Amino acid sequence: MHAETVHCKFTSDDRFVGPATTVEVHCNIPQRWLEVRTEGQAVAELGYRFARMILTIQQLDLMNRNPPHVYITGPPGTGKTLMLVLQGLRWIHQGHPVHIISTHPGTRTICNIIKDQLEETLCARHIAPPTICIHDCNFLQNDEDVTKVVTNVSNSAQDGKVHVIVDEGDFNKRKDYGPRAERAIKELIQLLPNACLWVAGIWDQDIPAELQKETLTIPLRCAPAVLREVEPALKFYTDVNAYSTIGVPSPGDGLNSIRLCHHGTDHTGRWPVDCEQCGQDVADMLQNRLRVGGKDGSIKMSDVFILTRSMELQDEFKDQAGNLTSSASGFVRGLRAAGLLVDVLGVSLGTKDLATWKTETANMRSSSSNKITVAHWNDVQGTERKVVVWLKCKTPDDENRLVADLNDRLHIVSRCTTQLIVVDLPPDSSVSQ
Ligand SMILES: [Zn+2]
Repeated sequence: MHAETVHCKFTSDDRFVGPATTVEVHCNIPQRWLEVRTEGQAVAELGYRFARMILTIQQLDLMNRNPPHVYITGPPGTGKTLMLVLQGLRWIHQGHPVHIISTHPGTRTICNIIKDQLEETLCARHIAPPTICIHDCNFLQNDEDVTKVVTNVSNSAQDGKVHVIVDEGDFNKRKDYGPRAERAIKELIQLLPNACLWVAGIWDQDIPAELQKETLTIPLRCAPAVLREVEPALKFYTDVNAYSTIGVPSPGDGLNSIRLCHHGTDHTGRWPVDCEQCGQDVADMLQNRLRVGGKDGSIKMSDVFILTRSMELQDEFKDQAGNLTSSASGFVRGLRAAGLLVDVLGVSLGTKDLATWKTETANMRSSSSNKITVAHWNDVQGTERKVVVWLKCKTPDDENRLVADLNDRLHIVSRCTTQLIVVDLPPDSSVSQ
């Protein structure tokens, strides 16, 4: 596996040194230097530069203060997950097992990525990792998962201490899962006041009083051209903080978004996810304009996410005898007809069992994957790709359509580091029903 290795200086008293400190975390983006002659190479090079990890003053300050119970909030791509990984490494270096709580199925992918990063960073340093345990909960549905995870984590306490990471935390009191997440935090701290608990999430609301709020606002993940597409969402969602206007200089502005439209005589279905022609148009853009998967190797298939909020996305299914029992969505068929290798994640769509999902997400996380991931945005929370294709879908009335657009900007567009491709809906009058 490739490793992008930069160095984090932990000094003997566990303090970070200097504002330009960089960190060492294993990730699946290989280091390479290439000439930039094509649009695809420009995307690859800029994406690589965004993947290089740096610590901002905000992040250094937080790591230096090292509060025991913290909720790190901030808009997407401000380095919240990196803080959790670094804190996990610090605990491991101190000899403590690390517990990662996945609060609902949408967080399984990022929890597994955090575990991978901890284990592979330690492996690269030739350190045998202590136990790193993921607790799969579903606070969306199961009240009993709260008691179960609190019991399991607290039973493993050593000298009254446990070390816990929670990513994509959300304590929204108006939703079922918010109070459950809050109860888990409160009960854990009540049972083990010396527990170390680092939680991160984009939502700055209903944060339990037990957690000290820390806010990160300097954008680190996305090119400015992508941020401009995300920012309307941050103006709308007042419970997500805005980006700092003065931040770390970007390594480049990024390329303008590419816009396609589900419109024209060959287009079928109601929205892009249904449409084979949209799949072929996107494949053409990826293969011929950006040269994804091309021989110069600048953008790999695994550098691409294709994301939607449509629950109609589906892969093909075969019975045990190998006969096709249901077809993939038109868009997926279009991609495959053009020769692209595609994995469709299905955990949020409820169409795939956990074992299948685990195999697929393991492929997605692997640096050796040569497939494009197509998914509902909920399945890839916390992750990023150089190229993101945003498949829009329509809602019944205009007000919801606007909210859907802003929701997509927050959850889909923010996954993109460098090149956004939007597949838009046609004007209402031409939508085929
Ligand atoms: Zn179409």
